Amino acid sequence: MASEEQKFVAARRNMIERHLRARGIRDPRVCEAFRLVPREWFVDDAYKSDAYVDSPLPIGNGQTISQPYIVALMLQELDVHPEHRVLDVGAGSGYQTALLSHLAAEVHGVERIETLADRAVKTLAKLNLTNVTIHVGDGSLGWPDHAPYDRIICGAAAPDVPPAWIEQLTDGGVIVTPAGPRDVQTLRRVEKHGTEIRRTELCGVRFVPLLGEQGWR
Ligand code: SAH
Repeated sequence: MASEEQKFVAARRNMIERHLRARGIRDPRVCEAFRLVPREWFVDDAYKSDAYVDSPLPIGNGQTISQPYIVALMLQELDVHPEHRVLDVGAGSGYQTALLSHLAAEVHGVERIETLADRAVKTLAKLNLTNVTIHVGDGSLGWPDHAPYDRIICGAAAPDVPPAWIEQLTDGGVIVTPAGPRDVQTLRRVEKHGTEIRRTELCGVRFVPLLGEQGWR
C-alpha cells in the first residue's frame, strides 16, 4: 500500500497536470516549483486530505490559502527570474512564498497577523528554504527596508494598486495583484518602465481584503 507521503506526491503531480497544465500554465519553472512544495504542510490539519483540490482552503485566523490555479496564473504572469528579489504581500501560510523561493534569488514575505507569520516561518524553515524572510506588519506600504523589488505579488485585494508598491519597484519591474471593490476584483499586472506605468487587467477574481494604510482601512 502507498504511504501517506506517496499519496501526496501522486496527488500533487495530478494537480499540476489537471488543474495547471491543462488550463494553460506552461511555464516549466512554475510547474516545477509546484512539484517541489508540499501544499499539505501549509493548510489546517483538518484540510490536509483536501490539499490538492483546486480550491481555496482555511489557514486559520479567518484567512485562506488561494486556489492553486490562481496562484499559478499569478506566478506565470509575474515572470520571476532566478536573480530577482521578490516581495510577497499577505504571506499567510507561506505557501506562495515557498513557491517563490524556488523561482527567485531572495523573497521577502509580509504578513499582518503575527500567529500566521510565526507558523509560516516554522514551515518554511522545516522545508530548508533559506532565501526567504517573513516580516510582520502592514504590507500595503510595501517593505521599504529591502526595496527595490524586481517583482511584487499580493494574495489580498486593495481598492487599487498601492502607490508604495510602484515606488518600491525596480525599473522594468512587475506587480501582479488583485484590486477593486470588496466583493469581486480583477487581477492586475503593472509594469514600470521609467516614469511610464503600463497596466493590464487579466481576469475576474475574489480575494480577501488587504487591510492597511494603502488598502482597506
Ligand atoms: N498567499 C497566502 C495566502 C493569502 S491570504 C498563502 O499562500 O497562504 C491573504 C493574507 O493577507 C492573509 O493572511 C491576511 O492576513 C494578509 N493581509 C491582509 N492585509 C495585509 C496587509 N496590509 N499586510 C500584510 N498582510 C496582509
